Amino acid sequence: MSDSAEFLRKIPSIDQLLKDANFDRLSEQYSRPLVVQELRAVLAGLRKEISCNSRGLDFLKQQMDCLLDTVELQLGKRLQPSLVQVINATGVLLHTNIGRAPVSCEMGNQGIEVSSSYTNLEYDLTRGERGYRDQHIEPRLKRMLGCEASLVCNNNAAAIHLILNTFARDRTVLVSRGELVEIGGSFRIPNIMEASGSLLKEVGTTNKTRISDFESNIDDQTGLILSVHPSNYRITGFTEAPSLSQLSLLAQKHGIPLLHDLGSGLLFPSSHPALLQEPSVEESLRAGVDLVCFSGDKLLGGPQAGIVVGREELVVQLRRNPIMRAVRVDKTTYSLLDSTFLEFESERARQSVPIQKMLYATKQEIEERALSICERLTLESLSTVLIDGYSLVGGGAAPEQGIPSCLIALESSSQSANQLEVNLRGSNPSVLTRIENGRVLIDLRTVLPEQEDSLSKALNALA
Ligand SMILES: *Cc1c(COP(=O)(O)O)cnc(C)c1O
Repeated sequence: MSDSAEFLRKIPSIDQLLKDANFDRLSEQYSRPLVVQELRAVLAGLRKEISCNSRGLDFLKQQMDCLLDTVELQLGKRLQPSLVQVINATGVLLHTNIGRAPVSCEMGNQGIEVSSSYTNLEYDLTRGERGYRDQHIEPRLKRMLGCEASLVCNNNAAAIHLILNTFARDRTVLVSRGELVEIGGSFRIPNIMEASGSLLKEVGTTNKTRISDFESNIDDQTGLILSVHPSNYRITGFTEAPSLSQLSLLAQKHGIPLLHDLGSGLLFPSSHPALLQEPSVEESLRAGVDLVCFSGDKLLGGPQAGIVVGREELVVQLRRNPIMRAVRVDKTTYSLLDSTFLEFESERARQSVPIQKMLYATKQEIEERALSICERLTLESLSTVLIDGYSLVGGGAAPEQGIPSCLIALESSSQSANQLEVNLRGSNPSVLTRIENGRVLIDLRTVLPEQEDSLSKALNALA
């Protein structure tokens, strides 16, 4: 012990070290306090390594020789942005861990332009007086969906929380037992209900719920009827659930609002084979649902947001709830949402919203892109073959529906599939892939066209 303490004293003090002119150069580049802080951290690491692993004089000398480089390297790393682009070659279109839907560069640029200036966020430029944030999306949504009103908040979970708290605090909410879902990432309907101060009243059974089950549970304590789209699973077989129209009639008869948590944010019914079972906002409204809420960053292809559409009288009450102030979104989000809805209104979304483009890309288009990537590969040790496979929508939409795709299967003569996966993940930008049957698979459906060069480079660097 005392040996080690003695030995550690051989490490010069910070003050001594800082006399080295090279540290002045670093200080000019990074500021003196940062250099001192990093130097302290590096030396602390060194002391720990020496005392824990009984390192000798050689080790200490070697570390002191490259001390400046180590500090510079650490400072460089520390001053990199943390949130960066990755290349999603997994073929899963929507995944929460990688930020769900990417927005297009055009949408992003508009968002940056708006947020790097003052804006008319909450200001009515014609009248010269205070406006309201939702003025930037409400008129468009009214025109497109025929809804009376709309509201934006931080995400769909916040929208549900706000709605429950507004209409069912200290009251009961009727939900079918088959719809008490967990969406992932700690979003569970029963928990969110508890947090909003409302009481869950489960209705029917897991596989069968009838309209009479709802009706017999309505009393003067009922605040809301909630229908949740079972977005990430299917109950099949001996099943029954009342339609939204039936629920709407019942809700109307008793003067109770009906909320449909639709999750995925498909605006209109889609003819896409993977989305035939997916409910749409328009259909919900047509069925007479009072409020529909959905995410902005799932099938809609916009930024993280929770969007509520429905009856004006109810939306007005939501806006008045003090919680609204805590879950409102900023100008960048409004701009990105506005741009996204604009693409839908102008019927260009399939060509311009990245998630929509990915959904509708044909297998042949993906095969052509895959071939062009393979042609650019130069590594002897890497072999590629194109195989048939499936992309997945993910993000709680179309849980079982794969979209036929053309995949590049990679094999290396020098690296295992796991090593390839790790090395691709470690490249800059990081490339995320999946492994199936011992092979690394690359699905170009989810790779943005502008990332293809980086992908080829990452593959060619797999030496
Ligand atoms: C995704 C999802 C949510 C949660 O939405 P966030 O925007 O992530 O808060 C809630 N309900 C359903 C049905 C969903 O699919």
